[in-house]
Amino acid sequence: VTFPAIPSLRWRLVAIMCMAYILVAAVTEVVAYRAQYDNLHHQLDSRARADAIILAAGAVSPLASNTAGTLKTLRDVVTSLTRAQGVSYAAVYGGDGCTAAATSFPPQAPRCVPINIARRIVVRPNGDVEGWALVANIGTPLGLARVVLSSSSVQSDLNSALFQDLLLRGIGLVIFFTLTLLIAQYILGPLTDLARAARAIRHGRLSTRIPSSGHTEVATVADAFNDMASALEQRIRHLSFLAATAPDLPAAFRDDGDAAPALQEFCRQLDTCGVGLLSRDEEEQPHLWYDARADPTWHAVAIAATEGVTAPTAVLRGNLAVMVVPVLGDAVFVTARDGAALFAQEEQQVITNFAYQVAVAADNARLFAAQQEALQVKDQFLSIVSHELRTPLTSIKGYAQMVQRKYAGDPDGARYAANIENQVERLKRLVDDLLDVTRFSRGQFDLRRQRMDLRPLLEDAATRFRMVAPEYSLVLDLDQEAFTGEWDRDRLEQVLNNLIGNAVKYSPPGGTITIGARRRHDSVVVAIRDQGIGISSEDQRHLFERFYRGNASGGSVTGLGLGLYVTRRIVEAHGGTIEVHSRPGEGSEFAFSLPLTAGPLLPPLDHSTSDVPYPTEQTSPSGRQGL
Ligand code: ADP
Repeated sequence: VTFPAIPSLRWRLVAIMCMAYILVAAVTEVVAYRAQYDNLHHQLDSRARADAIILAAGAVSPLASNTAGTLKTLRDVVTSLTRAQGVSYAAVYGGDGCTAAATSFPPQAPRCVPINIARRIVVRPNGDVEGWALVANIGTPLGLARVVLSSSSVQSDLNSALFQDLLLRGIGLVIFFTLTLLIAQYILGPLTDLARAARAIRHGRLSTRIPSSGHTEVATVADAFNDMASALEQRIRHLSFLAATAPDLPAAFRDDGDAAPALQEFCRQLDTCGVGLLSRDEEEQPHLWYDARADPTWHAVAIAATEGVTAPTAVLRGNLAVMVVPVLGDAVFVTARDGAALFAQEEQQVITNFAYQVAVAADNARLFAAQQEALQVKDQFLSIVSHELRTPLTSIKGYAQMVQRKYAGDPDGARYAANIENQVERLKRLVDDLLDVTRFSRGQFDLRRQRMDLRPLLEDAATRFRMVAPEYSLVLDLDQEAFTGEWDRDRLEQVLNNLIGNAVKYSPPGGTITIGARRRHDSVVVAIRDQGIGISSEDQRHLFERFYRGNASGGSVTGLGLGLYVTRRIVEAHGGTIEVHSRPGEGSEFAFSLPLTAGPLLPPLDHSTSDVPYPTEQTSPSGRQGL
């Protein structure tokens, strides 16, 4: 049987109870109606027979004498009977079985009946009842008397009784419905509270509980629900605590931040005396001790409990519950709580997770510090070596120029000296790039800004490269507008040298190199385009990282992979950006932007008197320039 879906349990209960009531009422009503019907018909039947007997008694003498006068009397008797209440038809049949006297004759009534029907009672299909009686004179049958009683009065009695019954049962149904509703509310009310509390918990109000009292089944359910909610709340609290400390702890340990809040929260969550992360190695200092309470007497007990433990273990020592978790290497995490009960399974899980988090964070912090130190040593080394190389290189360059002047009349000698100077210049540029890298990583990079126009710088660069790389055709494509801003002239020259130098380096001779400059909003965009070997998309992703060299450059073109790194850092220090567009075999375009500022140009700064801080160098920064 499928019932229509009623979402509410309360209404379902009410519907079921009402249906049961209606069913019982209908059955009892049918039974009662039937009994009443039978009873009334029985009475009618008795009356019909009694009336027939009376009629038969009255018909004895008229039938016995059987004269016209007597028959008339008989007819009067019959007629008087039909006036009696409920009689719809009466007849007397003579000895031949044919009608001797009758009330208005119904067309379908038999005019003659077999006289041997001694006595018969028939309930006619329309509910009428008829009674027959034998007319006999001292044992001699003379005929039959017949009375038909109408059942309409019985029917109307039955109908009014039925109507009354139905009315009463209807009122009963309303009362029953109301009572059932109240009972349903009484029984299911706690379920509604339960649902409300469950919904509140689902929406994050984890401390919601159901009031429960007594020992009823409902109170048992409420207690079970409250227990479940408490366990859930605690578990969620623990998990959120672990999730929150996961990113906090590494940061706290690494940046010399304060790990105390996380440790304090751990102790609060698990009600412990404190935490310790120690090394089993006697010589090593404990990595960490944190006490949540003033009295650290638990240390000794906790340290003793770590003896020989190889897996997370919870033990009881004196009046302390101790949990020991061996973590990384020979380190061990320990925590303790006052009390005579072990840490619960759930708590052991939380402590173990936290122990690993603390251990990994502390270990990472140590590794990070060691790595930072190594990086610092490397930077220091690079910086010292670069400085030390720079001084002799400057001298060699000076001597090469002197030799060049000395051999002015000797073409071979002058060429050798010029070669020496070029190679020294190349070495100096590499050393300068290395020095720049160390400055960037130490955060010692400063710009000497001055108000300037970019146009002459671009034109100078083009002129310079036309001279040193005459096999390339250098095209200048500049907008007519002014490109003024506050920039570091030497550093921008370094950027142009790197980008145009790369275009020359990575293009076959005879190619065209275009230097373009356009205004875009409040910036100028400078693009260096070549028709060289191009760059794969994989290389493009890493080009601007330090020491990165593209695959296509192979072994034939030399370099350290620093030029683009230094270029990007200089452009970014100016507040600009740099990007590359390229396809292998189709050339490359490097475009960098610089923010423009309007205003008059100032006379160039006198470097020797400038008090703007500049990286400590013994030689002029202009030494970085030139191919
Ligand atoms: P280096 O030229 O010393 O290798 P860079 O930092 O200047 O270092 O350039 C990094 C890499 O970018 C180069 O090794 C080269 O593969 C690629 N590259 C730079 N400029 C171009 C260019 N114009 N065409 C093709 N490849 C280039």
